[in-house]
Amino acid sequence: MYQERIFTPGPVELPERVRSVLGKQIIHHRTEEFRRAFLEVRELFKRLLDEPSDNFVFFASSGTGAMESAVLNFFREGDSVLVINGGKFGERWLKLSQHWGLKPVEYKVEWGESADPDRVKSLLKENPSCKGVLFQISETSTGAYHPAREIGATCREFDVLCVADAITALGVYNIKPSSWGIDVLIGGSQKGFLLPPGLSTLWFSERAEKSLVERAFYFSIKKELSKQKDGQTAWTPAISLILAMKESLEMLLEEGMEKVEKRHRAVSEGTLQALEVLGLQRFAEKPSISVSAVSSERAEDIRRELLKLRIRVAGGQDQLKGKIFRISHMGVNPKDGLMVIGMIEVVLKRLGFEVNLGEGVKAYSQKLMEKGIW
Ligand SMILES: *Cc1c(COP(=O)(O)O)cnc(C)c1O
Repeated sequence: MYQERIFTPGPVELPERVRSVLGKQIIHHRTEEFRRAFLEVRELFKRLLDEPSDNFVFFASSGTGAMESAVLNFFREGDSVLVINGGKFGERWLKLSQHWGLKPVEYKVEWGESADPDRVKSLLKENPSCKGVLFQISETSTGAYHPAREIGATCREFDVLCVADAITALGVYNIKPSSWGIDVLIGGSQKGFLLPPGLSTLWFSERAEKSLVERAFYFSIKKELSKQKDGQTAWTPAISLILAMKESLEMLLEEGMEKVEKRHRAVSEGTLQALEVLGLQRFAEKPSISVSAVSSERAEDIRRELLKLRIRVAGGQDQLKGKIFRISHMGVNPKDGLMVIGMIEVVLKRLGFEVNLGEGVKAYSQKLMEKGIW
């Protein structure tokens, strides 16, 4: 049987360059070899964000670990924060901040919609004790993009910390945290970095540095940073993932983040255009370019039929179970994006939808040519 192809919004398929590093024998982390490699990865990460400072750490954890670290290291018990909750991951900010004794003010956004920066403004006005805004740049559960630059600018205006979960945005969007007004930027390995799960990243601004509190143990930013600046880590690092990250960062930098974003945008728009021609509607009004959520009463049938053809896409979570399916574009070669559309056409036909084979593929190709990718 053919190898299954994975188009889920985490984990994503590993590029060959990443896989070749992962197959190697482990090296010890208390060595000059690891130290040099880690420092090199840190330099590449700085270049990715176009930031001169060393204010960032890597944790051996999934993305949620870095989210927890942000809550623990930049806020104190009793602090108010504004949480933009527009899906499963917005909800996670809410639960995390409640768990650690913060007082979240919830800005509830309908699933599938994007946050309104004016509403963020008025909520900050109404709640002057808020010390930060916690949100997702790309809300993976609904496929919605929250306007990060506008939210960042609002945070600057109110002088509150802008904490962005960029787990499906880093490595996809050309994010420049300082100029966007972001203070804490979080990434995860199995999403935009095209690595296996187990490594998370947390970058923070000088403004955020002034708010650092020592509450965490494993996830202490101060402890990690003092070590990581020198190529070491407080605990055993995810050695193999750090070595593999050198490859994924080099790949992103070789292509250039502007082009990386352009590619993701083209694949996303091509996919949505093709699906529309095939009679399927997008779920998010302002879609994230890393994942397309597609509405259909037969979402689960479509997902299951695709799986029979060895194409794995994700279903909906919680209230969206059975109502949407989600296709990841993270790291996707535009040619593979075309293949996915072709297979969706076949599946729709098999399920009795009224489609003409080739219409979606045509729409996709036209969009990619229009966008200058082909
Ligand atoms: C995947 C994801 C997370 C959670 O990451 P884990 O690696 O599963 O802990 C958080 N936020 C967003 C937006 C995600 O896509």
